[in-house]
Amino acid sequence: MRSSFQARAAQYDDRDELASWRTAFLIPQFQGKDSIYFTGNSLGLQPKSLRALVNEELDDWAEFGVEGHFHSRRPWYSYHEQLMQSGAEVVGAKLGEVVHMNGLTVNLHLMMVSFYQPTESRFKIICEAKAFPSDQYMLESQLAFHGLSLDEALIEVAPRVGEHLIRHEDILKAIADCGDQLAMVFWGGMNYYSGQFFDIEAITRAAHAAGAVAGFDLAHAAGNVPLALHDWNVDWAAWCTYKYLNSSPGGVSGVFVHQRHASNPDLLRFAGWWGHNKESRFQMEPGFDALPTAEGWQLSNAPILSMAAHLASLRIFEEVGMENLRAKSLALTAFLEEWILAVAHERKANIEVITPSNPNERGCQLSLLVHGYGKPLFDAIAARGVIADWRNPNVIRIAPVPLYNSFQDCFRFGEILFEELGNKL
Ligand SMILES: *Cc1c(COP(=O)(O)O)cnc(C)c1O
Repeated sequence: MRSSFQARAAQYDDRDELASWRTAFLIPQFQGKDSIYFTGNSLGLQPKSLRALVNEELDDWAEFGVEGHFHSRRPWYSYHEQLMQSGAEVVGAKLGEVVHMNGLTVNLHLMMVSFYQPTESRFKIICEAKAFPSDQYMLESQLAFHGLSLDEALIEVAPRVGEHLIRHEDILKAIADCGDQLAMVFWGGMNYYSGQFFDIEAITRAAHAAGAVAGFDLAHAAGNVPLALHDWNVDWAAWCTYKYLNSSPGGVSGVFVHQRHASNPDLLRFAGWWGHNKESRFQMEPGFDALPTAEGWQLSNAPILSMAAHLASLRIFEEVGMENLRAKSLALTAFLEEWILAVAHERKANIEVITPSNPNERGCQLSLLVHGYGKPLFDAIAARGVIADWRNPNVIRIAPVPLYNSFQDCFRFGEILFEELGNKL
């Protein structure tokens, strides 16, 4: 069994047209060798090209001082514009629908200001149960801001008893049942815990049918799975760029505002000077004049060093293309899953993959539910150079990332799993 998986991994790597992209990234070392880095879902690896782009900004700052806003090689005044086209392509948006700014949670709040305006009769929000904690705090504080409590205004849709995934039919039913009271569906495009990828188009359609807005947190979806935010008619979305988009720890966040909203300067928002008409921005006169694109939500002048990091990463995505990335991702994740299940079977280990087995309902993450001995197993594989992620009470999350992980990474992971299951447990 072992040798057939090993041979397949070598063969798949040989045939992989994206294989050489691995050398474009800095892979953390373990005992003098590449570690098995399966945590791109949490922090993507550093592209080697990133340092040069960031250094150029440091050099231009040194050379030009404030004049760099207009005279550096990539003038800071309009720096964000260089990221708009490639940033839009990654999430299936049109030019003008995507802008990069702030951190993710900040942007969620900014979007809520514009899109969540509860009335006496329409004030409820539907979200996934056990959303990422920051998203939960965001929702709780937004509701409190409007004088509403979680109990009265938030409807959480959970997996059925004994199940790990949320059924789409249950989401659609909750939306329909809420009907006229529903103000917004706020959903994670990809659940961070289970790796479940939701049908964003269907959820959006159902929200609209109920007269509500559909907004998405795409932290685990952007750069991982193909998205078509414009065509799916999503109202708004936001994501971070330091997970699958490899754009440095705490890097700048992306925001999508659908054209039909972005072009509406009357939409309520919290404003700042960088969202103001570019022609008259420096006249510094009273009266906010919103840009008719997602840029109209920018508050501050852009954090150039973070933007440079994101630019380096977006250039890679532009060159590789989301479709090619997805094709490899499907093969890589399927291979890893098959190998892990074979290992678990051989060792009679109680390891369950809770991520959907249907490739259309997942990205590259696999969440392994390890009954009983999860933490010791996690510690044992970590001591062998596997960088994965542990979630209490019993889940190991691993993400083979198609840009820099290989089929042989997947093979070695399974081999270490096999050995540690035999050794210690
Ligand atoms: C990673 C992640 C965040 C992180 O929020 P920051 O504001 O970038 O710190 C928020 N929500 C989800 C769903 C995430 O996966």
